[in-house]
Amino acid sequence: MRFIAGGIMHETHTFSSEPTPLERFRIWRGDEVLTFRGKNHSFGGALDACAALGIDYVPTFFADTLSTAAPDRATFDAMTGELCDRIETALPADGIVLNLHGAMVAEGFPDAEAEIVRRVRTIVGAQMPIAVTLDFHANIGREMVEQATIVTTYDTYPHTDAAERSAEAVELLRRTVLGKIDPVLTLEKPPLLLVPQAMPTGEGPFQQVFAHAHSLEDSGAALSITIAGGFSYSDVPMAGVSVLVTTDGDPVRGQAIATELATELWELRTQMTFANLPVDEAVRQAIAFEDGPVMLVDVGDNIGGGTTGDGTSLLDELLRQQATDAVIVISDPDAAAQAVAVGVGGRFDGLVGGKIDILHGDPVRVQGTVAVVSDGRWVHEGPENAGVPVESGPTAVVRAGGVSIVLTSTKIAPGDQQQLKSVGLDPAKQKIIVVKAAVRWRGGYEPIARHVLYVDTPGLGSTDLSRFDFRNLGRPLYPMDPGASFGHR
Ligand SMILES: [Zn+2]
Repeated sequence: MRFIAGGIMHETHTFSSEPTPLERFRIWRGDEVLTFRGKNHSFGGALDACAALGIDYVPTFFADTLSTAAPDRATFDAMTGELCDRIETALPADGIVLNLHGAMVAEGFPDAEAEIVRRVRTIVGAQMPIAVTLDFHANIGREMVEQATIVTTYDTYPHTDAAERSAEAVELLRRTVLGKIDPVLTLEKPPLLLVPQAMPTGEGPFQQVFAHAHSLEDSGAALSITIAGGFSYSDVPMAGVSVLVTTDGDPVRGQAIATELATELWELRTQMTFANLPVDEAVRQAIAFEDGPVMLVDVGDNIGGGTTGDGTSLLDELLRQQATDAVIVISDPDAAAQAVAVGVGGRFDGLVGGKIDILHGDPVRVQGTVAVVSDGRWVHEGPENAGVPVESGPTAVVRAGGVSIVLTSTKIAPGDQQQLKSVGLDPAKQKIIVVKAAVRWRGGYEPIARHVLYVDTPGLGSTDLSRFDFRNLGRPLYPMDPGASFGHR
């Protein structure tokens, strides 16, 4: 058996002002993709599953980058063009594996994944089974579902099962090729547009509904059940929660299960809204705790969700209230270069952060001492992305009073203690750690966190969706529209 694989992953923040040109993507071609072998990553999971099953696996093209604005048409066409050309060259095959995100928007394509799968479908023909893996934050649309044969998404947030879900997709694809199953997909979309904080899978409503979904899978009622939380900072008609049920040729049962799970999510909706602490109050409370680490969750600057990573409101407040044993990471290539040039032990006096746009606070003047200089290279210890290397560019730690400011040259979504360990900071010994993430930070930091405070910082990650000028959503959607209804309820 022979599978051809490829993918493009981008979680598009349609309100971001950071452009996403082709150069912003990290691209692996052909055998370069083999670097994901053994790693907890969509591509690695598919590679390893094929190796274990004795399936010939042909990697073609994989592109990935952090969340930013929608790529323009030329960038999208260049990437999908190369993906399709390489797949065409690699034919014949028994099946195709596409590792996509699910919340990608490109100029002219509000559902970019639907367009990617459609273009691949054009090349491989109507009969070729195509398995698609998506992120948990996918905004799943009907057109993509119609083009694909199999769809799986991560069941976890933080995403600790990326490899496992790809292996599931490979196994379903294998059984399809062998004629053992006839996958039929049924999509249900309860009218929910939720912020990332509403959907951790280790607790609360999503844990409950996933437990139900997994028991249905175990009972054999469905081949696979996907629940995608969606990505709310995406002004497209398919934005929101999705329940996607794969049955063995039984769309009636698929619809019944999809409706049941979507209704269960809907009934838990009042547990999916949030109020965060004002910045000054959060810092005051963090300082007042006797023990730590106290995690200050910088909700407005949620890097993984497409923000700048240079938000300064918490830095400013930590310095103003003279916090001690506090650490914050700020992505600012100019400040990092300045600190690296000064060198260890030298005096730093410069403006930090708040430079990319006007939404994430003003630049803050920092006066301190350069404590550490680093090349910004480290390897994820996990659980998320375990084994995957990171390049954050020239990096320095500046100590200003009791605050350690880690200045990086590129933004890295925080979810791994190695980010701090790599610059000589022991996370467990910090009193206060600022994390620019909504939920992802939990992967690495939850085991050591003593207290967690969610902070209402300004920025593109704000959990107050009324601050964004949405025009294209499929409204009404709860909680933006409190009068939204679903089914008979
Ligand atoms: Zn995600």
